[in-house]
Amino acid sequence: MSPGVEQFPKAKSVDHFDAIIIGAGIGGMYMLKKLRDELGMRVRVFDRAPGVGGTWYWNRYPGALSDTETYLYCYSWDPQLLQDWEIRTRYVEAPRILEYLEHVADRYDLRRNMQLETGVTAAHFDEDRGVWRVTTDRDETFTAKYLVTALGLLSATNVPTIAGRETFAGEQYHTGNWPSGVSFEGKRVGVIGTGSTGIQVITRIAPQARHLTVFQRSPQYSVPIGNGPLPADEEAEIKRNYDRIWAEAKKSMVAFGLNESKVPAMSVSEEERRAVFQKAWDKGGGFRFMFETFSDIATDAAANEAAASFIREKIAEIVEDPEIARKLTPHDYYAKRPLCDSGYYATYNRDNVTLVDVKATPIREITPKGIRTADGVEHELDMIVFATGFDAVDGNYTKIDLRGRGGERIKDHWRQGPTSYLGTTVANFPNMFMILGPRGPFTNLPPSIETQVEFIHALIGHAERSGTRSVEASAAAEAGWAATCKEIADGTLFPKAESWIFGANIPGKPNVVLFYMAGLGAYREALNEVRNAGYRGFDFRLPRAAAVTAGG
Ligand code: FAD
Ligand code: NAP
Repeated sequence: MSPGVEQFPKAKSVDHFDAIIIGAGIGGMYMLKKLRDELGMRVRVFDRAPGVGGTWYWNRYPGALSDTETYLYCYSWDPQLLQDWEIRTRYVEAPRILEYLEHVADRYDLRRNMQLETGVTAAHFDEDRGVWRVTTDRDETFTAKYLVTALGLLSATNVPTIAGRETFAGEQYHTGNWPSGVSFEGKRVGVIGTGSTGIQVITRIAPQARHLTVFQRSPQYSVPIGNGPLPADEEAEIKRNYDRIWAEAKKSMVAFGLNESKVPAMSVSEEERRAVFQKAWDKGGGFRFMFETFSDIATDAAANEAAASFIREKIAEIVEDPEIARKLTPHDYYAKRPLCDSGYYATYNRDNVTLVDVKATPIREITPKGIRTADGVEHELDMIVFATGFDAVDGNYTKIDLRGRGGERIKDHWRQGPTSYLGTTVANFPNMFMILGPRGPFTNLPPSIETQVEFIHALIGHAERSGTRSVEASAAAEAGWAATCKEIADGTLFPKAESWIFGANIPGKPNVVLFYMAGLGAYREALNEVRNAGYRGFDFRLPRAAAVTAGG
């Protein structure tokens, strides 16, 4: 392996790297650092974006905010950076996250190994040479022994097929590909979608637009986020205790820094229950409301209904018009990724906001002037905002012509739904490692990303030290992990709600769990066990020798 000192741009010939990483977000950047600086590898990172940051490069829509508290939405691996970086607000807005990730790229000199504004269109495993052959949209081909896909799990935008979209005369944007300089001033804006993104963008656009029309398909349970400046003494306290904070988060279920409850909701009186919910409501945070109140909101129907009915009552209190309140009130399980907001329901008390229930009156078409619903009404608009989410988790994988051993396409491998071993590898795709691939942990993501990067780094290091030609998950290990993930998900209420967590938001996508839902602590234990058993479940192949299966 050569030291990580190559310079871009390179000649247009086939250039070989020890590792190619696709994606320059939180995952790809840390992976680059580990492989280059600790294993001395020659690495190139590709991203189709012109800048680093991934999610936070693309999602520049007004109101974009992390719902993980600032002190845990960052890397944990540099104690000095944790001390240096100023925490200004309890929750961190998108521009500040981007500033942080740009700072990380500069601080560790990561950009010199990146080729930005370059989409990877194909990656084929060449069995004869034991390398990945990677093709870009600049018509270049590169080879690498290892391929790391850090493609993002909420990155491939979902723009629904609606007749006439191309005829619309006004502006139209998807929140996940938001340009700079958009103004709402004096405009009639329509927003389609009321997920985590929709509720943020709706709340922020309403005071700026002449009129806002919200096209809601499913009403949502949301609680206040409780954002605001972080007092200096709280920041100092966090910084004094960062080692303990990270250690606890990494052992916890959702890694949101909560005191995850051990108390079942029905074990206390109704009065006590309400007091607990009210306290969480006042403090703010969606994951807090679901996981710090009681232990079984996500698993027990009665507990779930108690939480759901508390939120329903809040909607009735906040929203002045009973008919609008009725439309905003959900009746399904409270079992999607929990939402939180900065005044979402109260936005509907504004005179310049209209709510259209598109389950009752579906969108028929987009016209040059706006959106026509099934009741024949043409809602006239100057701008349409698609807050319609993502082809989550595997969406960016199936957009690449990705082929493993024997030319097997990832699309075919995942015909029954995306699978993996440990969220990081796929059988028959040797020397390919995924960050936030299907069936990884459902948590605050930076510590899960770090966990996976560190596992991949250790596995590649092990493979290199033992002179391995290729390493891949066995089919049996992948099937076992699939069964584990299904069993865990089936013990929760999440499969009963329709959301992207099961692929339910994309027509025709197989309905399977896309996550390992036992939490980060359990996930880290599972990875440790695999590592301690000599990478159980992985096949290591040596040059010109028969395959050996690690761990016996
Ligand atoms: P990403 O940041 O998605 O980066 C993937 C990169 O891969 C992108 O830059 C993309 O351009 C690139 N790419 C993909 N395909 C190709 C290709 N073929 N060729 C070249 N480049 C390619 N998570 C939380 O834990 N807490 C939160 O509060 C939170 N808030 C979020 C808010 C929003 C609006 C969104 C959309 C997501 C949020 N997430 C949150 C999830 C967030 O995506 C992750 O926390 C994290 O940023 C993922 O980092 P990543 O590096 O894995 O992927
Ligand atoms: P989402 O949760 O999938 O929501 C998409 C919305 O668009 C839903 O309301 C959906 O309705 C609606 N929709 C989709 N297709 C439609 C159609 N054809 N007609 C009408 N409505 C349609 O996507 P998201 O809001 O972008 O959030 C995705 C994930 O990103 C979140 O769960 C979260 O993990 C992350 N995120 C986090 C934050 C944060 O606060 N930190 C902010 C933004 C995003 P249905 O519900 O009926 O399908």
